[in-house]
Amino acid sequence: GPRSKELLDRQQVRESSARTYPRYLPIAIRRAAGSYVEDLDGNVFLDFLAGAGVLSLGHNHPRVVAAVREQLGDLVHGLDFPTPAKDAFTEAQLGMLPGDMGDRFKIHYCGPTGANAVEAALKLAKIATGRTDIVAFSGGFHGSTAGAMAVTGNVGPKAAVGNGLPGVHFFPFSYCRRCPLGLRPETCSTNCATYLRSVLTDANGGVPRPAGVLLELIQGEGGSVVATREFVREVRQLTRELEIPLIVDEVQTGCGRTGSWFAFEQYDIEPDIVIASKALSGIGLPVSVLLYRGDLDRWSPGAHIGTFRGNQLAFASGVAALDYVRSADVLGNVCRRGAQIAQSLGALAARVPGIAEVRGRGLLWGVEFGDTDGLSGSQVAAAVRAECLRRGLIVELGGRDDCVLRLLPPLTVSEAEIAVALDIVHDAVAAAFP
Ligand code: PMP
Repeated sequence: GPRSKELLDRQQVRESSARTYPRYLPIAIRRAAGSYVEDLDGNVFLDFLAGAGVLSLGHNHPRVVAAVREQLGDLVHGLDFPTPAKDAFTEAQLGMLPGDMGDRFKIHYCGPTGANAVEAALKLAKIATGRTDIVAFSGGFHGSTAGAMAVTGNVGPKAAVGNGLPGVHFFPFSYCRRCPLGLRPETCSTNCATYLRSVLTDANGGVPRPAGVLLELIQGEGGSVVATREFVREVRQLTRELEIPLIVDEVQTGCGRTGSWFAFEQYDIEPDIVIASKALSGIGLPVSVLLYRGDLDRWSPGAHIGTFRGNQLAFASGVAALDYVRSADVLGNVCRRGAQIAQSLGALAARVPGIAEVRGRGLLWGVEFGDTDGLSGSQVAAAVRAECLRRGLIVELGGRDDCVLRLLPPLTVSEAEIAVALDIVHDAVAAAFP
């Protein structure tokens, strides 16, 4: 519409060329509520990007907003002083760890972003072990600061600025559709972790024992790629044998996105360091934390600081969000709506040969497009994204060359909203394959 366009044009002139979303989703947002976003011209969209997985309770959840309003009257910025809001948030987060983990784990408040917490995790692992190297995985995404980018698989952004960390070693992630060894899941008698084991246990393997192994259990930006159970359990066993802290990046998979509060619960493993951010506050107030084994707590005072570690609004928001998640059985909704998406996307994939794979967990899904009829998977995915927007659905892409359509609705999304959104996806795919 004209009002959106005017603002988009102005932003294009005034704002950095690094801006991303409005290039492909050209809308200017006036307001939002729940699963819906309204642009400046009054057009309403279903939001299946949800602030890049941040808005677990959708936009402006009224109960959470009320808690934030109340906190606003008491205290906003608390540095790292103890406060009631922080205390409640700490107890709430540690309380979400399964079994007795909450008794054995500690919390570290990082800066506001996921990347801030990734940086902290890398430092903590190095300080705790006295070692310096890090193992990370192909296709992983961990953020845009120097250290987080260095452990991110995507080499594009590093090309111009160099790799910000020495001693980072990449190993293949269990992305079976693109198996680096050319194996098919049906005939694969091993997994990528076997290769990792062979290198890390070989004195001539070239990789010194690392300070940490950093893993996304389900790669989000990498294209909604779900690690196999065998792979994850073998990585856990190997890192335990070699006394290497296993760092799981749950920035995107955490806070209920995959159907359990943390994705690691579904793999029946206990990580040593958990990174969480994005949906911690439920409605988009920035906060990030590390949850980690208490005996790794070898930080010296002031070893990792930052001005914005005490966002009381985010703490109050997070506590209220968690209350709601529990009382409204939001995780149950994630599982039911996830099954609904799986069924619909499964039917779509069975009908459309251009769809290479459908995969996901909970409310984190991906539709990977293959190359067909002279069009690359990325071109098809971009066309589908554009068609979805035209029909009133905001969705983003991810994966190799952005060939994966990613569905990340709010965790409170309704059955009817999923039905409407999936109808749009079906129509958009049909339009992209004339
Ligand atoms: N880790 C993962 C798994 C992520 O998905 C992201 C963000 N997409 C980050 C880290 C970085 O978070 P932030 O953008 O808040 O720095």
